[in-house]
Amino acid sequence: MDLSRFPRRRYTNFATPLEFLPNFTRALAASCPGGKGPNVWIKRDDMLGLFPGGNKTRKLEFLVADALAKGADTLVTCGAPQSNHCRITLAAAVKEGLKCRFVIEERVPGSYKVDASGNNFMFRLMGVEAITVVPGGSNMAAEMQKVAEDVARAGRKAYIIPGGGSNAIGGLGYVACAQELQQQMFDEGLSFDRLVVGSGSSGTHGGLVAGFLGNNIRIPIVGIGVSRDLPDQQPLVLKEAQAVLDLLGVDIKVKPADVHCVGGYWQPKYSMGNQRMVEAVQMLARTEGIPLDPVYTGKIMAGLIGLAREGELKAGENVLFLHTGGLPSLHAYEREVLGETELPA
Ligand SMILES: *Cc1c(COP(=O)(O)O)cnc(C)c1O
Repeated sequence: MDLSRFPRRRYTNFATPLEFLPNFTRALAASCPGGKGPNVWIKRDDMLGLFPGGNKTRKLEFLVADALAKGADTLVTCGAPQSNHCRITLAAAVKEGLKCRFVIEERVPGSYKVDASGNNFMFRLMGVEAITVVPGGSNMAAEMQKVAEDVARAGRKAYIIPGGGSNAIGGLGYVACAQELQQQMFDEGLSFDRLVVGSGSSGTHGGLVAGFLGNNIRIPIVGIGVSRDLPDQQPLVLKEAQAVLDLLGVDIKVKPADVHCVGGYWQPKYSMGNQRMVEAVQMLARTEGIPLDPVYTGKIMAGLIGLAREGELKAGENVLFLHTGGLPSLHAYEREVLGETELPA
């Protein structure tokens, strides 16, 4: 698949590390039936560039390049109150000398606090130009359009990036990741039986599906939902993967069987904690010294742990976990993650 004809900015000048997790693998096995579990590896997309990086960094390499090519001077995007995507978009804007505005959707009423820690603190530190807060369920595309019109009235030019940076252009970032991974597996003589990844606005999961199909990488991808169960999530991912392949001009039709989604780990609600998330965050921190976040990667790792205990991820198979970042929001949920509050199972 040829990505070279798409403009791209580079925010990370290395391939993110691929590491075996020996202590975590041992701890997980001890909690699996018969004392045996999968070998767990991690790809450190939490070490991508920008402030601090995560999966949105890869999407923004293509989205910001497109914005610059179109002559924009302001990035407009949207997200939840502790949005990693908004924070990384702002970091990219600062680096490129662009202005940045957000529309924040309060999916949990009253949850946006200007002086909150984590990502909200970084919004202010990096100098976001304006934040519009709207109630949960608002039409985010329409709200961002209004912001873009305000920018235009000031004689400037906005570029709208959808939530999570998940459209065909953003998905190219995870085609690039698939190609990076393919090269690393070849160089390091590694092979994996399964890739476990988070599935939210779907650019990451969908981009990887597109990249794996297009490059004939036959490793099944397991997408753990962070806000939806399979019936709602699978069509979104399928649509994203198809849009990416179409943009690339690759003649492949994505089938439902290509998109494996697992639900049940994100409840009670997007961005609200549960005990399995706390167990997963503590387990990786205390066996490998690697932090996960409470909203995404903690729940995604809880999914990996759950699937291993159920025998769905088999003893002895090599499973690769994609760490998509999100670390600043850990600081907005410190007591939850330490197990000092009551949380649902
Ligand atoms: C946005 C995000 C995800 C989900 O990725 P999508 O491409 O939106 O599906 C996973 N992990 C972290 C840390 C994120 O910020």
